[in-house]
Amino acid sequence: MSDDPTIFEQIIDGDIPGRIVYETETVAAFLDANPLAPGHTLVVPKEPYERLDELPDDVAADVWAAVQELTPRIEGAVDADATTVGVNNGPAAGQEVPHVHVHVVPRFEGDGGGPIHAVAGSRPNLSDAEMDEIAADIEASD
Ligand code: AMP
Repeated sequence: MSDDPTIFEQIIDGDIPGRIVYETETVAAFLDANPLAPGHTLVVPKEPYERLDELPDDVAADVWAAVQELTPRIEGAVDADATTVGVNNGPAAGQEVPHVHVHVVPRFEGDGGGPIHAVAGSRPNLSDAEMDEIAADIEASD
């Protein structure tokens, strides 16, 4: 965590404007200022953890509980057919604000967007042995 408040802390603290839609002791949610769709909302821990793996378990649970509670509320507010929920976890994945945030993006039939499968570059052509090795490495990495 850096010493300078992140833009999201500044919104939570009321130092810059934001459309806060949900707040608990540990979590806040507000509309994205450059929405991908009406109702695009960011759900954040109030503390500015940069990456998902830095979140304490209880805060991670609080963030996910907020996402789960808010998703149908957001869909209802904008009459969406669905939502895409995702995290850009690190700059190489497109994270621009170094403060964990879950994007909840309302989706509409025929909106022209794609599934999460569209976010990565070209797909790798992995052999079964390579897949087995990756799975084993993840399983053993605790
Ligand atoms: P990411 O690329 O995952 O880090 O996304 C950062 C998001 O924060 C973008 O979707 C921005 O539109 C959004 N954003 C940046 N500044 C603000 C702000 N002041 N208020 C609300 N959302 C913001």
